[in-house]
Amino acid sequence: MNDLYQSFIKNERQQQLFSLAENLSKKIKERAKEADRNAAFSFENLQDLKESGYVSLTLPNEYGGEGISLYEFLLLQEKLAEGDGSTALAIGWHLGIVMELRDERLWDESVFKNIAGEISKNKKVLNRASTEPATGSPTRGGVPETSAVKDGRSYILNGRKTFTTMAPALDYFIVTAFMEETDSVGSFLIKKEDPGVHIDPTWNTIGMRGTSSDDLLLKDVRVPKERLVELKNAGGKKSAKGWLLHIPACYSGIAIAARNEAVRFAKNYQPNSLDTPIAEVPHIQQKIGEMEIELLKARHLMYSIAERWDQQPHQQEHMGPELAAVKLVVTNAAYRVVDLSMRIAGGRSLSKEYPFERYYRDVRAGLHNPPMDDITIQMLAKRAIENE
Ligand SMILES: Cc1cc2nc3c(=O)[nH]c(=O)nc-3n(C[C@H](O)[C@H](O)[C@H](O)COP(=O)(O)OP(=O)(O)OC[C@H]3O[C@@H](n4cnc5c(N)ncnc54)[C@H](O)[C@@H]3O)c2cc1C
Repeated sequence: MNDLYQSFIKNERQQQLFSLAENLSKKIKERAKEADRNAAFSFENLQDLKESGYVSLTLPNEYGGEGISLYEFLLLQEKLAEGDGSTALAIGWHLGIVMELRDERLWDESVFKNIAGEISKNKKVLNRASTEPATGSPTRGGVPETSAVKDGRSYILNGRKTFTTMAPALDYFIVTAFMEETDSVGSFLIKKEDPGVHIDPTWNTIGMRGTSSDDLLLKDVRVPKERLVELKNAGGKKSAKGWLLHIPACYSGIAIAARNEAVRFAKNYQPNSLDTPIAEVPHIQQKIGEMEIELLKARHLMYSIAERWDQQPHQQEHMGPELAAVKLVVTNAAYRVVDLSMRIAGGRSLSKEYPFERYYRDVRAGLHNPPMDDITIQMLAKRAIENE
């Protein structure tokens, strides 16, 4: 057992859940290099996640899930990301959205029950498609250019969504669209087999290449009005979104992988100028210690906020700034840890023979997942000024 996780595993249930993630993490690690090279989501990884029951974990027990808490979710996602960040981020969206639907009861119960059955029995997966070329990040409040026009008992949707993680493997897309008749934004449940749904394989990035976050194209897609599932812009009833902490958990897992690789390297590499491995050299120990500090600070913050979220539901509404701060602190710490790990390995860290350069590229993407750092800093500053 790796000590890095042991201090956060608090009971037998968490240990069992963690073991599941640990096994999956080992398996998906073996395919990470190939998925990265091909910029292609690993369907084999998804199959493993489905067969193990991982895709149902955030469903309520009565709908065939495990009803896992936010704290448990992060523990599993962090371990999974240690094996492969792309797969963890992808399934993190699915599980996180299901958690949001479960906790906020955003959808009509019969629609949610139906989807829950599709997830638990038929292993279906979903994600939100909210980003567009013109709006950029939906967190900035831009109105979607994707349109939904009422036609009798149906809506007809047209538009293009970018950054749709896991697009080729998704069964359902939750798509935001502007409805001119009511001058409002709604979210529609789109099935992959709906006529007019296409995936444009645009994803060719430097980092998180294995997420296949392609474009989703909707051309005259007709959906019955019951599939207008939400009436607010990809949001919920609560402004604070605990489930979004799957993002920092993912980048923390990538940082742990880099840290482990660097420590292993330092213990095993002995140049002929030294009579010990470089792990004994003061400047290397300095860097290892700095990685530990970064991880300790970031992870204790993340897990303590998650625990508070789970244990004090009445406080959740006011936790937006803390949740955002966790994302900022963890993703930036992860970035520094990967940088330090590469300084420890030296020039070899640039080689495709080692995973460091992939961690370096992957961890960079964390900066561009929501919420963005400038929004977080402004949120914290405003709260401080208002409360004084
Ligand atoms: C790996 C990965 C996976 C993703 N998966 C998904 C997914 O599954 N579904 C999904 O919907 N989205 C997804 N996204 C998209 C993500 O949530 C963002 O929408 C996307 O990264 C664009 O954000 P941005 O800040 O670069 O874009 P923009 O909002 O276009 O910002 C570009 C630049 O302009 C600045 N800017 C823009 N607007 C403002 C403003 N109003 N005020 C101040 N500054 C502004 C930003 O700070 C930034 O510097 C994913 C992104 C990544 C990297």
